[in-house]
Amino acid sequence: MSVEPILPEALRSVSGLDTPQRFYQVLRAPAPLAGMSFPNRPPWKLVAAAGFESIVCLTDNIPPYDPSPLRVLRAAAFKDLVGGGQPEDPQREAAMLRDVVQATVAELRSGKGVVVHCAGGTGRTGTVIACALAALGMAQDEVLNYMASVNTARGKSPGWPESEWQERRVADFVVKTGGCLCGAVRYEISGPVRAAEYCHCSMCRKASGSAFSSNAEVAAVDFRWVAGSELLSEFASSAQRRKCFCSTCGSHLVIRRLDDPGTIIVTLGTIDSDAGVRPNRHVFVDSRATWFEITDDLPQFHVYPGFEPS
Ligand SMILES: [Zn+2]
Ligand SMILES: [Zn+2]
Repeated sequence: MSVEPILPEALRSVSGLDTPQRFYQVLRAPAPLAGMSFPNRPPWKLVAAAGFESIVCLTDNIPPYDPSPLRVLRAAAFKDLVGGGQPEDPQREAAMLRDVVQATVAELRSGKGVVVHCAGGTGRTGTVIACALAALGMAQDEVLNYMASVNTARGKSPGWPESEWQERRVADFVVKTGGCLCGAVRYEISGPVRAAEYCHCSMCRKASGSAFSSNAEVAAVDFRWVAGSELLSEFASSAQRRKCFCSTCGSHLVIRRLDDPGTIIVTLGTIDSDAGVRPNRHVFVDSRATWFEITDDLPQFHVYPGFEPS
């Protein structure tokens, strides 16, 4: 999908709202998307008339206002990172962000307009909007340049991103593509690739035909087949694992965990570009190929961490 954000000079004004300082609409399609500063008595009916159906509140777990006729899509108290830095609990904050961005993108894809707000409309709001633009298919540089130009138009300095944390979150949501050797099976990942590791188990060795497989986790909602899914074959490598491969060329693309359908294991070697993560451990080293010596300093686990025989 190609995304065309509204250029800062064309930012649409909505009567009753101070545009673009307190309200800025960045997308028309697939549905309107806008950022705003904290809504003090906003004209919700006018916002609804401008094509918006949902509110994402980033300041409170329960919004201290009634946005009807709009509905609250998500409300979560994110840390205000004004002045830079990163949250005290980065994992929790990143998981909250993932939920909000996924919900926002799903809403936009279903044709419903979304307004996102925090206090000033720049930091937390900008992070959600930038991640949503990336998840919809914009390249990282395009997103960052666009956000900087919008915030310059809003009179915000020093522009955007305000922190490395924001920039890294955008990278999480940049769409990564991948596929098999013959090119018939293709997939897209529109969310963070996480928990990357080298797996030395005998199944991964056989499936990859190499010393180990480089695997990482992706949330199932962030993963989709975009071509050739009818060519996929599955092999039950164990009771709860399905190795999915291209029936034409044999590339081993993903592993499905029957006991964890919310997660897809992607083989990093089938991602086209940089996956944005680096493997940080070796697992099942007791099964490793005798001809292969691990020479890095990453932690090694005999089997899978948490599944050691007692
Ligand atoms: Zn293939
Ligand atoms: Zn394995």
